[in-house]
Amino acid sequence: MVWKLVTYTELYTPIPPYKSTYAIGVAEDESGNKAIVRIDRKYFGRLRSGMLGDVIEEWTVFGTIKRFVPKEEVKVPRVALITGGARGIGSSIAIELAKAGFSIAIADLAYDKEAEKTLETVKSIGVEAVFVAIDVSNRESVEKGVSEVLSKLGRVDVLVNNAGITRDSYLQRMSAEDWEAVIRVNLTGAFHCSKVVSQYMIRTGGGVIVNVSSIVGLVGNVGQANYAASKSGLIGLTYTLAKELAPYGIRVVAIAPGFVKTRMALAVPKSILRDYLKRSPIPRLIEPEEVARLVRHIVENEALNGVVIPIDLGLTISSPRA
Ligand code: NAP
Repeated sequence: MVWKLVTYTELYTPIPPYKSTYAIGVAEDESGNKAIVRIDRKYFGRLRSGMLGDVIEEWTVFGTIKRFVPKEEVKVPRVALITGGARGIGSSIAIELAKAGFSIAIADLAYDKEAEKTLETVKSIGVEAVFVAIDVSNRESVEKGVSEVLSKLGRVDVLVNNAGITRDSYLQRMSAEDWEAVIRVNLTGAFHCSKVVSQYMIRTGGGVIVNVSSIVGLVGNVGQANYAASKSGLIGLTYTLAKELAPYGIRVVAIAPGFVKTRMALAVPKSILRDYLKRSPIPRLIEPEEVARLVRHIVENEALNGVVIPIDLGLTISSPRA
């Protein structure tokens, strides 16, 4: 029996007792019988009146519910937006998610040689890719950049809040400007991007936000009060958004890498790096590709939500935090 979706409405606010959003519609079979149906939010943004599908009965704790399942599942390429995606960890994440079939939006401050190289590598994998200039610390820049991504790629399914900076010094020498600059990029930047992008994810049925924190956010680090505070803040943001956005099908997860072989880590004074390697159970730097593979796993594993996953070669267990 083929059913036709006569009309529908997408509900963007969860209605108690349900803890999720969905669409409600009226479907009609070939004999003119009508049924009120529920439609999964994964079809949001693709539904249209007249669509053909099946109506199936589903047993739930709230009783039997009729569900409409469209027959013509339009394949829409999924899109990942990576901030600070031009180089370092962000570049590796862009390449890894391209390998997973995502169209890629690389967001960074400026289109320089490194951005060009990452963009070309991503395109050579065979997916669509764009560069957008975004300063994550500036709300207007984020709004403009995200709408550019939407107009070029149509949607955002994955947001990786990866852009980050350091301005290291001991507390007594740390200027208020350096404190604020780091918080503005690393923490407020993730707030702006999550706020703007999630409103579109809600309308397209959900998504995943990955926040790139640091083990420094878990255990602190001498000379990095601003950076540690920003990365701990990202963890609080992750826990809260994971609760707030779950009803909309958006998962939020943080990762906490140890020292990763990028320009940021290599700028750390040699003596501190040596000390780090001495303490690490596995004494080496982490490759950016290893971090990228973890991000891909988070994106693909739908059971992960509201957690912080360290990727640190065991450094946190040997940290002198206690
Ligand atoms: P990186 O090589 O310095 O790359 C950071 C990228 O972010 C650069 O492309 C940079 O652009 C961009 N960026 C800086 N400020 C921005 C802003 N306001 N708006 C948009 N983009 C901005 O650093 P990385 O090592 O790959 O680090 C990536 C993330 O991982 C950061 O959040 C970092 O804190 C975190 N992390 C790194 C390590 C590590 O050991 N490397 C460890 C734990 C966590 P420009 O090139 O124009 O400056």
